[in-house]
Amino acid sequence: MTAQPLVAIVTGATSGIGAEIARRLHADGLNIVVVGRSAERGTALVAELGTRALFVGADLTEPEGPEQIAARAVEHFGTVDVLVNNAAIDHTGDLLSVPADEIRTTLETNVVAAIRMLQAAARVMTTGTGGAIINITSRLARAGVAGLGVYSATKGAMEALTRSAAIELAPSNIRVNAVAPGLTRTPLYTDWMATLPNAEQVAQEQAANIPLGRIAEPADVAAAVSFLASPGAAYITGTSIPVEGGFLAK
Ligand code: NAP
Repeated sequence: MTAQPLVAIVTGATSGIGAEIARRLHADGLNIVVVGRSAERGTALVAELGTRALFVGADLTEPEGPEQIAARAVEHFGTVDVLVNNAAIDHTGDLLSVPADEIRTTLETNVVAAIRMLQAAARVMTTGTGGAIINITSRLARAGVAGLGVYSATKGAMEALTRSAAIELAPSNIRVNAVAPGLTRTPLYTDWMATLPNAEQVAQEQAANIPLGRIAEPADVAAAVSFLASPGAAYITGTSIPVEGGFLAK
């Protein structure tokens, strides 16, 4: 009997890093559930992947969102083996004047929805042989940057969750790890750069600040996710892999 392909849910796969993770896991042979709000970009990615891919259009912050996504994955592919909690929104602003609604929206998307997606996927995994959950965090979970306090707080929360969830879910053979990218060339990055009056100079300074001399490409992040989802990482849980060109090694 041939083994069935594993099933991966990738949230925020309608853009940037998530789309590249979906492509990479699909190339690795997994069935992919592409999750995002943009039906146009989601269906385009599924068409590009061709087979073994399903788009589930959902807002992760909706009360039923995470449960419905896991249910659609089970309905279509039979189970969930891998969850990549990648969807997030950026937030920049002067810490002392950030309005409460912006704080709440950022936490709701980057933390509350991600925890609820973990719950929904892990409930399915516990009915089978286990699985792998990979939370996409950020170098800002460890490095402080002025103006990014709210965003970095959400990423620090997800790193802490990764460790506790790994311990709690280990008896169910569910591994939980994080991948912490540095600056990565995606719409989130280019939209932010477009707001800067001196973007070219800032880009040069960014590259000069990174030991490997360049910002990350989405494929760099996808390669780490591919490893953590693979049998080669069977004994790795509760940790975070930095993908930031050596930024934090300094
Ligand atoms: P991006 O291009 O802005 O994509 C974000 C994705 O999240 C989109 O697919 C978006 O879907 C989805 N999303 C956001 N809110 C959602 C919601 N409420 N419901 C469903 N989907 C939602 O971002 P990216 O740069 O690829 O970032 C991906 C991950 O890497 C994020 O966790 C980010 O924090 C992290 N990261 C990025 C960088 C960087 O420099 N780019 C650095 C460190 C960490 P729709 O567009 O369909 O709404």
